[in-house]
Amino acid sequence: MQIISASWIITCDKNNSIIKNGAIVYDKKIIDIDTLDNIKNKYPKTKIKNLKENSVIMPGLINSHVHMEFSSNTTSLKYGNFITWLNSVIKERENISLKSTSKLISQKLDFMKKTGTTSIGAISSYSYDLQACLNSPLNTVFFVEAIGSKADMIDTLFSDFKARLKEVQSHKSDNFIPAIAIHSPYSVHPFLIRECLNIARKENLAVSSHFLESPEEFEWLHHNKGAFLSFLQKLLGQNKAISKPLEFLNQFKNIKDLSFTHCVEASNNDLEKIKDLNATIIHCPTSNRLLNNTKLNIENLKDYDLKFSLGTDGLSSSNSLSMFDELRNALMIHENINLNDLSNTLLKSATKNSALALGLNKGELSQNKDADFICISLPDIVLDKNLLAINIILHTKYVENTIIGGKNV
Ligand SMILES: [Zn+2]
Repeated sequence: MQIISASWIITCDKNNSIIKNGAIVYDKKIIDIDTLDNIKNKYPKTKIKNLKENSVIMPGLINSHVHMEFSSNTTSLKYGNFITWLNSVIKERENISLKSTSKLISQKLDFMKKTGTTSIGAISSYSYDLQACLNSPLNTVFFVEAIGSKADMIDTLFSDFKARLKEVQSHKSDNFIPAIAIHSPYSVHPFLIRECLNIARKENLAVSSHFLESPEEFEWLHHNKGAFLSFLQKLLGQNKAISKPLEFLNQFKNIKDLSFTHCVEASNNDLEKIKDLNATIIHCPTSNRLLNNTKLNIENLKDYDLKFSLGTDGLSSSNSLSMFDELRNALMIHENINLNDLSNTLLKSATKNSALALGLNKGELSQNKDADFICISLPDIVLDKNLLAINIILHTKYVENTIIGGKNV
């Protein structure tokens, strides 16, 4: 059992509790959390580690959507329009994958740790990122991704998928959790989706899918028109979408831990259905800005009682895997919301809501949650506790300490 205290503790719990001069008692899980004075009284014999002035302890950040296999990209891809980007990905994919070695991915994971991330939801297309994730102290929810829309290929694709999943499942541990990703409504055949989701239900695996990321996807799925038509006609000889949005969503019934990434073009009917499915929306603001110049209408989600979590997406559609960079970008692009309210909402989206999306017992500092937290240091005194969230987002680049499962890593 250990005790650590800081000038401030941000719990990200359901009441958004903030404790001034607080302390946490923990082993693998959080045992107690209170003011330093109360903790001293309750545990008089235990040594307390006191962090310095203007220190903050908060839950470790959870990056709910990232593609590590594209980690080598910096300047190779074209941004500004989804189809232009997709064409550049197809052209450069092999090169980017080849350069994204295990060593490079390990370096990126280390950077993520230093910038406050303690858990990731890694979408894996080929399992090239498997070894680096296994070697990392970060908790990984490892999403084996299914992709492929050609009916005559489904048996082969499903066999490959099952083989990859089996390999990934053989590494299951407390901090490595196998899961299933469906690439998107336009790229995965409904039969393949059905089979993969049956496995998820049977084995109780978390599921995630990209959904309505671009106006082009909306045009294609609803009307079989737009830039996707020429793109998919040329690539696969398709002239009709394989699923309508609601048909697609309806396939995801009875999945316990479910998330849909992007949803920037989701209709109100879609949002209602996503709520029915008890799913979380994953918001990747930098990626949405770079690929489509759009953003998720986070105010609108309130009408559907929908929660959103935060993710960086991969370096194929972002310039940083730092969750604090992502938080700053989110703070800047949602300019129509009160800054302090937004700051609190964003911190929660990167912690508690991300844990919800991935099905983890983490993301908030309260009794019996996993002891995953970060210690940061603000440059000066914060006079008003209501200004803590915005100052943490504005001023934190690197963390001073990272504790995962009660261990300093
Ligand atoms: Zn993605």
